[in-house]
Amino acid sequence: MKPKKSKASAKKHFKTKSPEETKQIAADIMKELSHKGIVCLFGTLGAGKTTFVKGCLEGLGLAAHAVKSPTYAYIREHEVGGKRVAHVDLYRWERNHAVASALLQQAMEREPHLTLVEWAENLGPYLPAQRTDVKLAHDAMRDGESARVIEIVTYE
Ligand code: ADP
Ligand code: MG
Repeated sequence: MKPKKSKASAKKHFKTKSPEETKQIAADIMKELSHKGIVCLFGTLGAGKTTFVKGCLEGLGLAAHAVKSPTYAYIREHEVGGKRVAHVDLYRWERNHAVASALLQQAMEREPHLTLVEWAENLGPYLPAQRTDVKLAHDAMRDGESARVIEIVTYE
Protein backbone atom coordinates (compact mmCIF):
# COMPACT_ATOMS: atom_id res chain seq x y z
CA MET A 1 0.00 0.00 0.00
CA LYS A 2 1.27 3.44 -0.88
CA PRO A 3 2.05 5.66 2.11
CA LYS A 4 -0.47 8.43 2.52
CA LYS A 5 0.83 11.64 0.98
CA SER A 6 1.14 14.49 3.41
CA LYS A 7 0.44 18.02 2.37
CA ALA A 8 2.56 20.97 3.42
CA SER A 9 0.35 23.70 4.81
CA ALA A 10 1.48 26.82 6.64
CA LYS A 11 5.12 27.62 5.98
CA LYS A 12 6.77 30.27 8.10
CA HIS A 13 10.16 31.98 8.16
CA PHE A 14 11.74 33.82 11.05
CA LYS A 15 15.04 35.47 11.83
CA THR A 16 16.15 35.81 15.44
CA LYS A 17 18.99 37.67 17.12
CA SER A 18 19.00 35.99 20.54
CA PRO A 19 18.02 32.74 22.30
CA GLU A 20 15.18 34.67 23.96
CA GLU A 21 13.76 35.61 20.56
CA THR A 22 13.95 31.98 19.41
CA LYS A 23 12.16 30.87 22.59
CA GLN A 24 9.46 33.48 22.08
CA ILE A 25 8.80 32.20 18.54
CA ALA A 26 8.62 28.64 19.89
CA ALA A 27 6.17 29.70 22.60
CA ASP A 28 4.00 31.55 20.06
CA ILE A 29 4.02 28.56 17.69
CA MET A 30 2.77 26.34 20.53
CA LYS A 31 -0.50 28.25 20.53
CA GLU A 32 -1.12 26.91 17.02
CA LEU A 33 0.64 23.56 17.23
CA SER A 34 0.08 22.12 20.67
CA HIS A 35 -2.60 19.78 19.33
CA LYS A 36 -0.59 18.62 16.35
CA GLY A 37 1.44 15.82 17.82
CA ILE A 38 4.99 15.67 16.53
CA VAL A 39 7.43 18.53 16.10
CA CYS A 40 10.65 17.52 14.30
CA LEU A 41 13.68 19.74 14.89
CA PHE A 42 16.50 19.89 12.34
CA GLY A 43 19.84 21.69 12.48
CA THR A 44 23.49 21.23 13.36
CA LEU A 45 24.95 21.18 16.86
CA GLY A 46 24.36 24.57 18.47
CA ALA A 47 21.75 25.64 15.92
CA GLY A 48 19.20 26.11 18.72
CA LYS A 49 17.03 22.98 18.78
CA THR A 50 17.13 22.58 22.57
CA THR A 51 16.62 26.33 22.96
CA PHE A 52 13.49 26.05 20.77
CA VAL A 53 12.24 23.08 22.81
CA LYS A 54 12.71 25.12 26.00
CA GLY A 55 10.63 27.89 24.43
CA CYS A 56 7.89 25.37 23.54
CA LEU A 57 7.75 23.94 27.05
CA GLU A 58 7.92 27.31 28.74
CA GLY A 59 5.17 28.50 26.41
CA LEU A 60 3.04 25.59 27.56
CA GLY A 61 3.69 26.57 31.17
CA LEU A 62 6.72 24.61 32.35
CA ALA A 63 9.31 26.36 34.54
CA ALA A 64 12.47 27.16 32.55
CA HIS A 65 14.89 25.33 34.86
CA ALA A 66 13.01 22.05 34.40
CA VAL A 67 14.03 21.74 30.74
CA LYS A 68 17.32 20.00 30.07
CA SER A 69 18.67 18.42 26.93
CA PRO A 70 17.97 14.68 26.98
CA THR A 71 21.02 13.84 24.82
CA TYR A 72 22.18 11.11 27.15
CA ALA A 73 18.71 9.99 28.14
CA TYR A 74 17.21 10.18 24.61
CA ILE A 75 13.75 10.68 26.04
CA ARG A 76 12.64 13.09 28.71
CA GLU A 77 9.03 13.40 29.71
CA HIS A 78 7.38 16.49 31.13
CA GLU A 79 3.98 17.00 32.65
CA VAL A 80 2.62 20.40 31.62
CA GLY A 81 -0.83 21.50 32.64
CA GLY A 82 -1.92 17.88 33.09
CA LYS A 83 -0.58 16.92 29.67
CA ARG A 84 2.40 14.74 28.86
CA VAL A 85 5.09 16.18 26.60
CA ALA A 86 7.91 13.93 25.36
CA HIS A 87 11.29 15.45 24.41
CA VAL A 88 13.35 13.05 22.30
CA ASP A 89 16.98 13.62 21.23
CA LEU A 90 18.25 11.41 18.40
CA TYR A 91 21.80 12.79 18.38
CA ARG A 92 24.29 10.17 17.17
CA TRP A 93 21.72 7.82 15.66
CA GLU A 94 22.46 9.05 12.13
CA ARG A 95 23.63 5.65 10.98
CA ASN A 96 20.80 3.76 12.51
CA HIS A 97 17.46 5.10 11.38
CA ALA A 98 15.66 2.00 12.65
CA VAL A 99 16.93 2.46 16.21
CA ALA A 100 16.13 6.18 16.07
CA SER A 101 12.61 5.24 14.97
CA ALA A 102 12.32 2.69 17.81
CA LEU A 103 13.26 5.41 20.31
CA LEU A 104 10.55 7.65 18.90
CA GLN A 105 8.02 4.79 19.04
CA GLN A 106 8.97 4.23 22.67
CA ALA A 107 8.27 7.89 23.42
CA MET A 108 4.93 7.68 21.57
CA GLU A 109 3.74 4.59 23.45
CA ARG A 110 2.58 6.63 26.42
CA GLU A 111 0.59 8.77 24.00
CA PRO A 112 2.05 12.14 24.84
CA HIS A 113 0.02 15.17 23.91
CA LEU A 114 3.08 16.55 22.15
CA THR A 115 6.41 15.03 21.07
CA LEU A 116 9.43 17.23 20.33
CA VAL A 117 12.22 15.45 18.39
CA GLU A 118 15.76 16.83 18.12
CA TRP A 119 17.96 15.52 15.26
CA ALA A 120 14.86 14.34 13.44
CA GLU A 121 16.95 13.81 10.27
CA ASN A 122 18.22 10.68 12.02
CA LEU A 123 14.79 9.12 11.49
CA GLY A 124 15.65 8.85 7.79
CA PRO A 125 12.77 7.07 6.03
CA TYR A 126 10.87 6.73 9.33
CA LEU A 127 10.04 10.43 9.54
CA PRO A 128 6.30 10.54 10.30
CA ALA A 129 4.18 11.91 7.43
CA GLN A 130 2.08 14.12 9.69
CA ARG A 131 4.36 16.43 11.57
CA THR A 132 5.65 19.95 11.96
CA ASP A 133 9.23 20.57 10.88
CA VAL A 134 11.34 23.25 12.52
CA LYS A 135 14.63 23.89 10.70
CA LEU A 136 17.15 26.02 12.53
CA ALA A 137 20.42 27.35 11.11
CA HIS A 138 23.03 30.00 11.81
CA ASP A 139 22.32 33.07 9.70
CA ALA A 140 25.38 33.38 7.46
CA MET A 141 24.41 36.94 6.50
CA ARG A 142 24.53 38.23 10.06
CA ASP A 143 26.28 37.76 13.41
CA GLY A 144 27.25 34.09 13.51
CA GLU A 145 27.08 33.90 17.30
CA SER A 146 23.51 34.95 17.82
CA ALA A 147 21.66 35.20 14.51
CA ARG A 148 19.49 32.29 13.39
CA VAL A 149 17.06 31.56 10.59
CA ILE A 150 14.09 29.37 11.44
CA GLU A 151 11.73 27.71 8.98
CA ILE A 152 8.56 26.05 10.19
CA VAL A 153 6.44 23.82 7.96
CA THR A 154 3.42 21.72 8.96
CA TYR A 155 2.49 18.57 7.03
CA GLU A 156 -1.05 17.38 7.54
P1 ADP B 1 21.16 22.42 19.66
O1 ADP B 1 20.15 21.76 20.56
O2 ADP B 1 20.64 22.67 18.27
O3 ADP B 1 22.48 21.71 19.64
P2 ADP B 1 21.22 24.49 21.68
O4 ADP B 1 19.86 25.11 21.74
O5 ADP B 1 21.60 23.52 22.73
O6 ADP B 1 21.44 23.88 20.22
O7 ADP B 1 22.32 25.62 21.68
C1 ADP B 1 22.21 26.80 20.98
C2 ADP B 1 23.19 27.78 21.59
O8 ADP B 1 23.23 28.95 20.82
C3 ADP B 1 22.78 28.16 23.00
O9 ADP B 1 23.94 28.35 23.77
C4 ADP B 1 22.07 29.49 22.78
O10 ADP B 1 22.12 30.34 23.91
C5 ADP B 1 22.89 30.07 21.64
N1 ADP B 1 22.16 31.02 20.79
C6 ADP B 1 22.65 32.23 20.44
N2 ADP B 1 21.79 32.88 19.66
C7 ADP B 1 20.70 32.09 19.51
C8 ADP B 1 19.47 32.24 18.81
N3 ADP B 1 19.17 33.33 18.07
N4 ADP B 1 18.58 31.22 18.86
C9 ADP B 1 18.88 30.10 19.57
N5 ADP B 1 20.02 29.90 20.26
C10 ADP B 1 20.94 30.89 20.24
MG1 MG C 1 20.12 19.88 21.56
